[in-house]
Amino acid sequence: MSIYTHFPFCTNLCAYCDFYKEPYARDRAARLFKAIGYEAEMVFSVLGHEPIDVASIYIGGGTPSLLDPQLLEDWVRSVGSYTHFLPDYEFSIEVNPESLTSEFAQRSFGAGVNRIIIGAQSFLVKSLKLLNRKQTTKDIYRAFYRARSAGYENIAADLIFGLPAQTMKSLKADIERLIDLEPAHISFYELTVEEGTRLAEQVASGEIKLPTEEKSAEMYGFGAHLLIDRKYRRYEVSSFARDGRRSRHNYAYWTGAPYIGLGPSAHGYINNVRYGNTADIDRYIETVEAGYLPIAFAEDLNDDQRLMETVMLSLRTNEGLDQQKLVNRFGDTAGRVIDNPIVKQYIKSGHIIDDSGFLRLTDSGFLLADKIILDLIA
Ligand code: SF4
Repeated sequence: MSIYTHFPFCTNLCAYCDFYKEPYARDRAARLFKAIGYEAEMVFSVLGHEPIDVASIYIGGGTPSLLDPQLLEDWVRSVGSYTHFLPDYEFSIEVNPESLTSEFAQRSFGAGVNRIIIGAQSFLVKSLKLLNRKQTTKDIYRAFYRARSAGYENIAADLIFGLPAQTMKSLKADIERLIDLEPAHISFYELTVEEGTRLAEQVASGEIKLPTEEKSAEMYGFGAHLLIDRKYRRYEVSSFARDGRRSRHNYAYWTGAPYIGLGPSAHGYINNVRYGNTADIDRYIETVEAGYLPIAFAEDLNDDQRLMETVMLSLRTNEGLDQQKLVNRFGDTAGRVIDNPIVKQYIKSGHIIDDSGFLRLTDSGFLLADKIILDLIA
């Protein structure tokens, strides 16, 4: 089992972000995190009396590095009393460079967190400022230093491409600077304009100009090759890892493994049921403190939905889609994908290969991953 926990507080709100969060307030954050602990207890007792084997935990946000370390330690102890962490468990936490203190790095590591994800995003601080991201280059270096000094060996970092005013030259510099810091894992992803965000308004009004789609595709291809050249193995469209340090937690999502979602707006997937918690901190706290699960929706996935989800998730990985496994699991319905003329077209155009029974995106396929997947599941 995997566990995702959402900590929805940030000190400033980045213009491009559509994650559920609100401005950080210490007491409110403390009350919420305690409520997340109660939610965990309720979920574990619904799932049974035996301790649950936990393969991975992921605390995301928001900005989990704003959490009071004492609350984190208490939470880990509480979760630990209902679960059994597998010997090679992965416990990740997201941190922002400007808010990672030495104390947080040391105490989170001491509490059992063994993978830290630094939201480096870019060294082009001017571009980030346009997006209201408050960090300096020095913050990024200091965050790596603090994480390493605390004992973290498994350090991951996020890097964005397609930023305003970004050029191929500055992208190359960004990637090289990050590689010099030797993270074990890099998530290399495109800045996207999400509806309802400040960035969407800035782009619509012309205040911010982003690279064209073609330029972004070129940036992805260039960046991916540079990372691969420097010994980062691409194991998913946006994920590159050295020394086998791929994210076990994300891998669980991509392979359809069950996971619990805790906290406001968190999603979970258990026994073919996908569910989501309320995206409202007040309602979340009230519901949990009253002794109820804060679930806003639950959907029993039918075979069709599970088939589409399997195709969508596995094609994003470098392992690709195991056609035999798909047939074993979904029977004749799998033919809708495998025998789909669109697959044949993409094989012909060199975007997909059929490699010993696995359908995989090629290099040019990875550039168009979203479009190809949408075409296949349409
Ligand atoms: S710090 Fe992260 S979660 Fe918070 S607003 Fe920025 S991008 Fe969103």
